[in-house]
Amino acid sequence: MQTISIAIDGPSGAGKSTLARSIAAKLGYLYVDTGAIYRTIGYYIYTKEIDPKDETAVTARLPEIHVELTYGEDGLQHMLLNGADVTKEIRLPQISMYASAVSAHPAVRAFLLEMQRQLARTNNVIMDGRDIGTVVLPDADVKIFLTASPEARAQRRMLELEQRGTPEPFEAVLKDIQERDWNDSHRAAAPLRQAEDAVLLDTTELTFAESEEALLNIMKEKTR
Ligand code: C5P
Repeated sequence: MQTISIAIDGPSGAGKSTLARSIAAKLGYLYVDTGAIYRTIGYYIYTKEIDPKDETAVTARLPEIHVELTYGEDGLQHMLLNGADVTKEIRLPQISMYASAVSAHPAVRAFLLEMQRQLARTNNVIMDGRDIGTVVLPDADVKIFLTASPEARAQRRMLELEQRGTPEPFEAVLKDIQERDWNDSHRAAAPLRQAEDAVLLDTTELTFAESEEALLNIMKEKTR
């Protein structure tokens, strides 16, 4: 089966997941949030009280972990960790840093690579992450690098956290975003960077509807 893959990469809080989810629904594509997969590993390491930066300790635990991605009746992506649905737990604010730390280990990335590629082989996908256009799907039909200023991203993340009922002060959210930006772009394994053939879209000054329109235009242009 010939499938279409759309890769959306960019830093934390650039609006990748909200935009990708909405566009996937419009186009009838499968939306794959790869950050949730790294969060699932981060969550496991957190529950085992392991230092997520300890590469040897994290790597030793990988054989115990079975990660599955399913789509619930709500149409949303659910994460199963050893059979248990951890979709809510992986969104706890402290899990972001765990996900970021474990995702720097090459063994963790290798552990999750095939699962992501398999999804794109069998479905038309919009996949968002940090290394989709560079490593996971280097032959994706469309590659977009979505970004916005750290302040704009922190502002949006703050609203999102508020709506989820787990509010955090702006300064704390901004600090978390800046730390994760640094971690994600300075790691040796699959760092966050724009693929050479990716289209850059900066949404700092754009509303959601404008960003969505811009994204759809890029896709139309590239898949024509
Ligand atoms: O996208 P989200 O913020 O939920 O991702 C959580 C963390 O997982 C990121 O900070 C990043 O370190 C890591 N990640 C990654 N590669 C991806 C997706 C996420 O390293 N493709």
